[in-house]
Amino acid sequence: MKYIEPHAHMVSRTTDDYERMAIAGCEVVCEPAFWAGFDRRSVDGFHDYFCQLTEHEPKRAAKFGLKHFSWLCINSKEAEDVKLAEEVIALIPKFLNRPNVLGIGEIGLNKNSRNELRVLEMQVDLAARHEQLILVHTPHLEDKSKGTRLILDVLKSDKRIQPERVIIDHVEEHTVELVLNAGMWAGMTLYPETKCTPARAIDILETYGSEKIWMNSACDWGVSDPLAVPKTAREMKRRGHLAAAIEKIIFQNPKTFLGQSLHFKI
Ligand SMILES: [Zn+2]
Repeated sequence: MKYIEPHAHMVSRTTDDYERMAIAGCEVVCEPAFWAGFDRRSVDGFHDYFCQLTEHEPKRAAKFGLKHFSWLCINSKEAEDVKLAEEVIALIPKFLNRPNVLGIGEIGLNKNSRNELRVLEMQVDLAARHEQLILVHTPHLEDKSKGTRLILDVLKSDKRIQPERVIIDHVEEHTVELVLNAGMWAGMTLYPETKCTPARAIDILETYGSEKIWMNSACDWGVSDPLAVPKTAREMKRRGHLAAAIEKIIFQNPKTFLGQSLHFKI
């Protein structure tokens, strides 16, 4: 079955992963800017990372027949240094016209700190000024509910932001409704242990429906599975979901959301 992987950190994966994803039916992979597994010490580190996301990784993906898109930002894990964040944010506009860039992301909160919030507001402003889509990372575990509320407050208080052009990722049972009620899209991240397992994600779909929801593997440097989306699709089939309903979640929904960017041509 064909599918879109809407959130994967491919710079951390091997060519074997690209090959397995292509064999499993992946046609498009989208890569938000995030932590590199270590804190970068200067703005130059981000410049090189943005080049990696917009020049080098699309070529690596193309060797396996996959289209590669990316999102740009400074992530919340490295947002404590506000001065550095300002320098990185100043760098982003010159990359926004590159043909594989979809928007600003994954911005958000990690520990819900004051500096993270300030940098989040700066990047929401950046997206608004440049009419970019927004992809948001929400904190893990006990910080998730509070962090999601704080993020929604920031987004809703900026009247330039259209909710249907925002996706809030890593939703779980206790945050999905908040996001959908705000008119935004919700992403479910399928992790082997933390975040959503495939079974929990399907339970959420069966409870809240399949409008404005997508699933992703968010595969990165930690324990994660680049085939989580097709494996969950297989589990949906086993649980009696029809082929059209499965295709909506793993292909049509991400295509609809991402298609709001003029760069997303597939
Ligand atoms: Zn991510």
